[in-house]
Amino acid sequence: MTLLDGKKLSNKIRDNVKLEVQKLQKNNITPGLAVVLVGNDPASAAYVNMKSKACKESGIYSIAHEMPETISQDNILEIIEMMNKNTNIDGILVQLPLPKHIDTTEILEAIAPHKDVDGFHPYNVGRVVAGLDGFIPATPYGVMELLKEYDIDPKGKNVCIVGASNIVGKPMATLMLNANATVEICHIYTKDLKAHTLNADIICVGVGVVNLIKEDMVKDDVIIIDIGINRLESGKLTGDVDFENVSKKSSYITPVPGGVGPMTIAMLLENTVKSAKNRK
Ligand code: NAD
Repeated sequence: MTLLDGKKLSNKIRDNVKLEVQKLQKNNITPGLAVVLVGNDPASAAYVNMKSKACKESGIYSIAHEMPETISQDNILEIIEMMNKNTNIDGILVQLPLPKHIDTTEILEAIAPHKDVDGFHPYNVGRVVAGLDGFIPATPYGVMELLKEYDIDPKGKNVCIVGASNIVGKPMATLMLNANATVEICHIYTKDLKAHTLNADIICVGVGVVNLIKEDMVKDDVIIIDIGINRLESGKLTGDVDFENVSKKSSYITPVPGGVGPMTIAMLLENTVKSAKNRK
C-alpha cells in the first residue's frame, strides 16, 4: 500500500506558486484573492483562515470580507460587485455554506466568471464539462493532480464517486470522465452502495460520514481517494473511509489529514495565479 501524500505534493505546488507570484510581481502584478465569509460557523472561519494564511505565504494579496449571519442578499451582492470591479482582485470566493435566507445560486452567479477561482459559476462548470479551459474546482482538481504525481492514469478504469454535490462529487465525476474513466456516481439515494464500490478500481468518496467505506466494500488493490473531513469528539480529523482496514486492501490511499485537504488549498492558489496571469 502506498500513501498518496497530498501534504508533500501541495508543498511542491505552493513553492511553484510562490515563484510564479514573484515573476508576476516583476510585471507589477500581485495576484489578489477576496474571500467572503458570512456568519460565524467555526469550520468555515477555520477554512478562511487557512486560505488567507496560504495566500500570505505565497505572496498573494488577500482580503477577507467577514459579514454577520443576518446580512441581506443585496449587501453580499454589493460586495461581490465591488470585488468584480476591483482591478487588484483576481479571484473571488464565497465560503459555503451560506445562511438559509441567502440564495446561494444568485450569489455564485454574481461572481465575474474570469474571477471565479472556485469554479462554481455555471460558466466555468459548463466549460469544464465540455473539456474546455476554465477554472476547475480546487478539491477535484487537487485529486487529479495527486493521481498524476503517482502516475495513476484513470483512463479505462472503473471509477466510483460517492457523494454528488456541486462542489465535490459532480466536478470529480466530470474530471474523471474527461480523463476517459468509466464513471459511476453514488449518493444518499443509491440503493446498494457496496455493489457499486466493489466494482471500482478507484473510489473517490466525499460525503461526510465516518467509516462509510469499509473493508468488505472494496476489491483488492483498489485506489482510495478520501475527500471527507469529519471531526471526531476527541477533536481528531478523519475521512469517510475506515482507513485502518481498507488500507490493507488498497494499492494506494489518501490519508486524512494530509491527503486531499492540503491539495485543495494549493489548487486554489494555483487558480488565483492563473487568473492574475490573464489580468487585462
Ligand atoms: P454535501 O452535504 O453537499 O454532499 C454530500 C453528498 O453525499 C450528497 O451528494 C449526498 O447525497 C451524499 N451522501 C450523504 N450520505 C450518504 C450516504 N450514506 N451514502 C452515499 N452518499 C451519501 O457535502 P460536500 O460539501 O460535498 O462535502 C462532502 C464531504 O467532503 C464533507 O465531509 C466535507 O467536509 C468534505 N470536503 C472536503 C474537502 C477537502 O478539501 N478535502 C473540500 C470540500 C468538502
